[in-house]
Amino acid sequence: MNDLRPVPAADMHAPSPAPEAALVRAYVGLGANLGEPVAQLNGALAALAALPATRVAGVSSLYRSAPVGYLDQPDFYNAVAALDTALSPQALLAALLDIERRGGRERAFRNAPRTIDLDLLLYGAQTVSEPGLTVPHPRLGQRAFVVQPLAELAPQCVVPGAGEVRTLLAAVAAQPIERIGALQPPA
Ligand code: ADP
Ligand code: MG
Repeated sequence: MNDLRPVPAADMHAPSPAPEAALVRAYVGLGANLGEPVAQLNGALAALAALPATRVAGVSSLYRSAPVGYLDQPDFYNAVAALDTALSPQALLAALLDIERRGGRERAFRNAPRTIDLDLLLYGAQTVSEPGLTVPHPRLGQRAFVVQPLAELAPQCVVPGAGEVRTLLAAVAAQPIERIGALQPPA
């Protein structure tokens, strides 16, 4: 006999988090400066939207800035995405590194040009400190190309150990960065 009871909403979408799994608001920094940076960022955003048990809750404007560290390379393009996810911080980082790999990134040397860089900036109010994963991202507060888009998206979001994101803006105000448009939100 058919079972005609309604399907609980949490079971309707596959893959879906277990009903008891709470979604955590995480923030991911996206960066690119080689090839076609804007196309690569849009591709990475679409890949984030396709992650299991994860929804893109918002995306900042697109920003452009001059490179820091190794200066002889093209301008950087950056944005920040807000995710609601049931993935653990470790699983989310693994997914980000996988998207980077598929995006063709090669790590030649520190601060080298890259086709796509995805950083786990924040994972709710949690801190993580283990080999290969530090959350909040250790250099979050030092970089205008992270602080600016994050403050645009979530000015009152709290960075564990540092306070509200908007209070970090002053420290990076001297770094030139330009808001140049929007990424293409994934369909
Ligand atoms: P950066 O983004 O600071 O320029 P990389 O992307 O080259 O540096 O750093 C890559 C490594 O940093 C990854 O292999 C990853 O294990 C480690 N890492 C530690 N914490 C994080 C984090 N919060 N987000 C992204 N990568 C991280
Ligand atoms: Mg990175």
